[in-house]
Amino acid sequence: MSDQPAVLITGASTGIGAVYADRFARRGHDLVLVARDQARLEALAERLRRETGVAVDLLRADLADAADLAKIEDRLREDARIGVLVNNAGASLPGGFLDQSPDAVAGLVALNVTAPARLTAAVAPRFAAEGRGAIVNLGSVIGLAPEMGATVYGATKAFVLFLSQSLQTELGPKGVYVQAVLPAATRTEIWERAGKDVNALPAVMEVDDLVDAALLGFDRREPVTIPPLPDAAQWEAAEAARQALIPGFANARPAERYRAA
Ligand code: NAP
Repeated sequence: MSDQPAVLITGASTGIGAVYADRFARRGHDLVLVARDQARLEALAERLRRETGVAVDLLRADLADAADLAKIEDRLREDARIGVLVNNAGASLPGGFLDQSPDAVAGLVALNVTAPARLTAAVAPRFAAEGRGAIVNLGSVIGLAPEMGATVYGATKAFVLFLSQSLQTELGPKGVYVQAVLPAATRTEIWERAGKDVNALPAVMEVDDLVDAALLGFDRREPVTIPPLPDAAQWEAAEAARQALIPGFANARPAERYRAA
């Protein structure tokens, strides 16, 4: 057993989550891997045990299913060896908003919003009581860009960013690190699963590069890591502009422009 905290990674059967599993295993962390595809999880676990010697547990779960999700919540609550949660599982939807049924929209919200929120709620009290722990949430640059035409997906990722930043304020002083990772287009199955051709995109990051960059941000304890963004000062300026709005919200009366003449 490793003396480092174990890492629970959702959506670890392929893509970004599988690379996180590989990298944390090489750093000597035991793993708890979550996804629906048992065979793929087993193949990854077998390789990582053989190559790195860490212990790897598998939890097959559909995170859009409340009963399955509850099992993962229990594990996070009860297993004190788990000191890092990576909320990575996620999906997108084919087509535009008008093509998406209410059930499809609700299913995406269940996976991209409810699951990370519930898993975080399950583990955060334990981490805060211990005064340590880390929560990594996979957002997306699309959550900053309503103009990019991925309405519900983008909204779920805006939620992930807000959740992460607000938790930084609340849990940071208690010793818990929360990171939001915002990839742009990255070469994984997510595109094909949503009926999109990744090769038609102007620029696509390789998944190893994305995760290695995200882990540099993790090691630096960055609150928000945006691997593709060349100029970090742009993000800092956007954050400063947003924060400058906040004092203006504390007013008992409507702004002058909303008062009847
Ligand atoms: P991916 O290759 O499609 O992998 C998604 C992972 O989530 C798989 O392991 C999948 O495993 C799991 N998953 C999907 N639905 C699930 C469910 N209902 N229950 C449990 N697990 C489920 O996608 P990815 O690109 O690696 O995406 C990982 C995260 O990065 C997502 O949150 C995504 O929104 C975000 N992201 C990706 C990109 C990109 O361009 N790739 C860009 C920005 C953000 P099973 O099918 O075995 O369940």
